[in-house]
Amino acid sequence: MIRRASLSCAAVFTAALAMTGPGRSETSPWADCLRGISADAEARGVPQGMAHGQLLGVASSPAVLSATQSQAEFAKPIWAYLDATITEATIAEGQRKLAEWADTFEAIERRFGIDRFTLAAFWGVESGYGKVLDDAAIVRPVVQSLATLACGDPGRSSYWRNELIEALRILAQGDVSPERLTGSWAGAMGHTQFMPSVYRTYALDFDGDGRRDLWSTPDSLASTANYLAAMGWRRGERWGNEAILGESFDYALADETTLRSHDEWRGLGAGAISPSDTEGAATATLVVPAGAGGPAFLLRPNFSVILRYNTSLSYALTVAHLSDRLRGQGAFARDWPRGDRALTDAERRDLQTRLGAHGHAVGVIDGRIGPKTRAAIRAYQGSVGQRPDGYADVALLERLRASP
Ligand code: CA
Repeated sequence: MIRRASLSCAAVFTAALAMTGPGRSETSPWADCLRGISADAEARGVPQGMAHGQLLGVASSPAVLSATQSQAEFAKPIWAYLDATITEATIAEGQRKLAEWADTFEAIERRFGIDRFTLAAFWGVESGYGKVLDDAAIVRPVVQSLATLACGDPGRSSYWRNELIEALRILAQGDVSPERLTGSWAGAMGHTQFMPSVYRTYALDFDGDGRRDLWSTPDSLASTANYLAAMGWRRGERWGNEAILGESFDYALADETTLRSHDEWRGLGAGAISPSDTEGAATATLVVPAGAGGPAFLLRPNFSVILRYNTSLSYALTVAHLSDRLRGQGAFARDWPRGDRALTDAERRDLQTRLGAHGHAVGVIDGRIGPKTRAAIRAYQGSVGQRPDGYADVALLERLRASP
C-alpha cells in the first residue's frame, strides 16, 4: 500500500463534478474507451460522477500491458516457483504471523472451517504476509491498471472492464479511499489479492469497523476463508500428500483426473508419505508435475479449491506445501529434477503444435503446460513406447522435432 496525503472519496467526487469530463472533447480510442466504461459504470449503479472522476486523466500503463505477457507461474519451472516463495525466512515469518494473529485465526477456523495453516499460506504466497502492500515498486493504482487492460488487452477486455467497474463500485461504497486502492498489475488487492468482482461477493468486515477492507488483516483473512468455504473447502481435510511411487509404477495412471481411494493407490504402487493423515477410503487423484524424475502427489478435493484461487499447478502446490511447512512438516521427500532446463515460451508453443500434429490435441496453443498439454504428452509418450509421465522437457521436444 502506498501511503499518501489523504484525499477523501467525497472530495474526489466533488472535484470530478466540477470538471469537464474524461476527454469529452478528445476522440482518441483511449478516451473513447474510458468514456464508454464511465457510462457503463453509471448504468450499473456507480454514482454519477464517481466513474467519471476516477477515470479522468488516467493514462495507459505500458508496464501493466507488458506484465500480461510474463506471468511468473507459467514462465519458471515448478521448483523455481516453490523455492522462491518457500524459504526458511518465509516459514519463520508465517509462524510469527500465526502467533501474532492467533485469536483471529481461531475465530476464522470456528466460523469458516478453514485451518490457520492453509489461510496463512495463502497470505504468505499472495502478499508476503502483507509486506508487498507497502512496496511502492510492486503495487500500482488499481483503476489505472484495470483501465489499461480494459482498453488495451483486446483478448480479455470484457473481463477487465467488469473488474474496473467493480473497483469503481468499491470506491463508491466508501470502503477504501482512492489512494489506498492499489494492487497488482492485474488489479488484485490487499493481503490476499482479491479481484474487485471477488471482493463484491466474498469480502467481509471481520474487525467490526463497518468497512470491508482488504488492507485489514482480519477482514482479508476472513474474506479469503469465506471464499474458500464457498468454493467447497472440506472442513478438517488436508490438500493431499506427497506420494512415493514404486519402481514399476504405471505412469499412465497419474492422469490428474481419476479419483481412486488411497488403499487402491497403495495397491497400484503409489503410497502416501503420511498415511496416518489419510484414511484408506478417502479418494485422491495422482499428479507428477515434473514427471518420473520429480515428486508425486496424491491430491484430495481441497487441492481443487486452492486451484480456484489461481489455476496454476505451481501456485497451488506452493500454497499447499507452505501450509504443511507452517504446520511443522518437512520438505518433500523426493527432490525435483533441478538440472533440467525449462523450455522457453517459443519451445513450449512448438511442443504443443507438434503434439497437435501427431493427433494429440492440447487445446489452445498458449505456451502453458497445463492439464491438457500434459495429457497430450502422456498420449504421445505412450504411442512411442516411452514412460507416459507427461513431463515437458528438452528431450521430449527434440524427439518430436525428429519425428515430423
Ligand atoms: Ca473492517
